[in-house]
Amino acid sequence: MTHRINRRDFLKAASSSAAGMYALRSLPVLGEAGKSLLAVSTPLSTFSYGEVQLHEGPMKRQFEENHARFVNLDEDRLLKVFRQVAGLPAPGEDMGGWYDLTGFSLERNDFHGFIAGHSFGQYVSGLARAYAVTGSETTRLKINRLVKGYGETLDSKAKFFVDYRLPAYTYDKLSAGLIDAHEFAHDPIAMEIHERLTRAIVAYLPEKALSRAEQRSRPHKDTAYTWDETYTLPENLFLAYQRSGNPLYLDMAKRFLEDDTYFNPLAKGNNVLPFEHAYSHVNAFSSAMQAYLTLGSEKHLNAARNGFDMLEKTQSFATGGWGPNEAFGEPGVGQLGDSLSATHASFETPCGAYGHFKITRYLLRVTKDAGYGDSMERMLYNTILGAWPIQADGTSFYYSDYGNTGRKTWYKDKWPCCSGTFPQLAADYHLSTYLRSQDGIYVNLFTPSSVRWTDGGTKLQLTQVTKYPFENKIEIQIGVSQPHEQTISVRIPSWATPNPILMVNGKRVFDKVEPGTFASIRNTWNDGDRIQIEFPMPLRLEAVDANHPNLVALVQGPLVLMAVAESQPTFESQSLLRAKPLNNPKGDWLASSIDGGQVTMRPFMTIDKENYSTYVRITN
Ligand SMILES: [Zn+2]
Repeated sequence: MTHRINRRDFLKAASSSAAGMYALRSLPVLGEAGKSLLAVSTPLSTFSYGEVQLHEGPMKRQFEENHARFVNLDEDRLLKVFRQVAGLPAPGEDMGGWYDLTGFSLERNDFHGFIAGHSFGQYVSGLARAYAVTGSETTRLKINRLVKGYGETLDSKAKFFVDYRLPAYTYDKLSAGLIDAHEFAHDPIAMEIHERLTRAIVAYLPEKALSRAEQRSRPHKDTAYTWDETYTLPENLFLAYQRSGNPLYLDMAKRFLEDDTYFNPLAKGNNVLPFEHAYSHVNAFSSAMQAYLTLGSEKHLNAARNGFDMLEKTQSFATGGWGPNEAFGEPGVGQLGDSLSATHASFETPCGAYGHFKITRYLLRVTKDAGYGDSMERMLYNTILGAWPIQADGTSFYYSDYGNTGRKTWYKDKWPCCSGTFPQLAADYHLSTYLRSQDGIYVNLFTPSSVRWTDGGTKLQLTQVTKYPFENKIEIQIGVSQPHEQTISVRIPSWATPNPILMVNGKRVFDKVEPGTFASIRNTWNDGDRIQIEFPMPLRLEAVDANHPNLVALVQGPLVLMAVAESQPTFESQSLLRAKPLNNPKGDWLASSIDGGQVTMRPFMTIDKENYSTYVRITN
């Protein structure tokens, strides 16, 4: 009986919305019989891509740049490696870089042809999400052609993967592309191709998720095989199950949860992050979250929550970035501070930010803890929004440089991993800005944008007008088709002390608003009502780690202000805290260094080719 009720509610909700196909996404995932395929329904859910619009600003610019880059990328080039292996006519130029079939040599440190076709699925995924945002027919048709073209190269044994270096790595991304083409661009054959690929790929995978240490202990002719990332597979497999109801994916997802060496110890609070590869192990947290959502496994929720906590407390820079040289270090020995003089490969930015946004969004949905929004925001403004756009030839931004004297550079090889996650992440900005609860809406990121939805017979819209984080004020304009009772919750960042201000139509609604929480306003809203927010944004200093108390970042609100200088400057700490804003378009501040010189302090977002120091020295 329950099933019938579920089904009826589901259809009613879907048809009562003007954008019925989008309404499906915010409801429990239902199988054919109307039975929920999720064990857990989270207190917060995401809006669909199409319900949120970004307005003029850096997030919209990055989304549009990525969308345009991949809509305009030649399909023959994208499909070439798959066609070559299949023995089909393979016109078009080589993609170059990591994407090609040959050239890789660890001895020569040559990553040409490192992982043929590795990012194809991510480009399709990014396009599918962009289609969900824009509804662009050009984009949808391109997705259809790419999926069809890929399907033509796939034989029943998936021979593309014979002697392939990293089969799990590339399968995971192909999986994302195909299930997203199905889900967001309604591609008619993507799910069938996904099943064929999945049935064939099993022959190339180990029996379970292997840690890199376990992989190294198994004989293999190619040492780079030990880099394969079987432990990231379950997230997309659980999603494939939710989107198709096919138990094949559920069984496989469970099999590749890296319980023995990763999730079990994390769930017990044992910090097993040190010396693991950084991005892929943060990405694996999202597999644990899907295990929680799909199976109801509290152990996996605890693993993800503890793991993320350890990431923030023991592995993170002031920017929110983590994992110098793509590895986690041993906590308590000053590894982050030491890395500033040892490497310029401080944070794998597009991939790391993508993984970070996903896990913070999952944890926010489950816990409603504003701290995850704070963490996402720190990552947004200090890492990915400062990444240069992917160039037409595949030249990409990869590492952020927090070295004592750093600068932005292009990655040496074209079409690396970070060219795959960037378009996915930029589309996902739409999912991260607002969330919804049973009785209202959560404003998580402050950025020029709007969200539209319906509640019963009422149409609602919120529009944010702000220059945040370059200004401390945000106005949220409320549009309703008729007066409507609704709770609007606004994230109050933990740094917004001492007295953040929240007003409705110019009047303060609370005596005191608590930083580090969501402040909720329940009200019967009228069309044209306004919520005004004003955050104190005091300057503060954050040491790189406890072992290096004199290496600090200057932070204002969510923004790290980096010293623009040819070499790392030294300040007296109080004079650094007396830096003054220049109120220019770059968001610069000016601080007096110990030798009396004036040093420009600039956010990562507006740094271009100039040398900078993320951390500066203080004398006391
Ligand atoms: Zn990457």
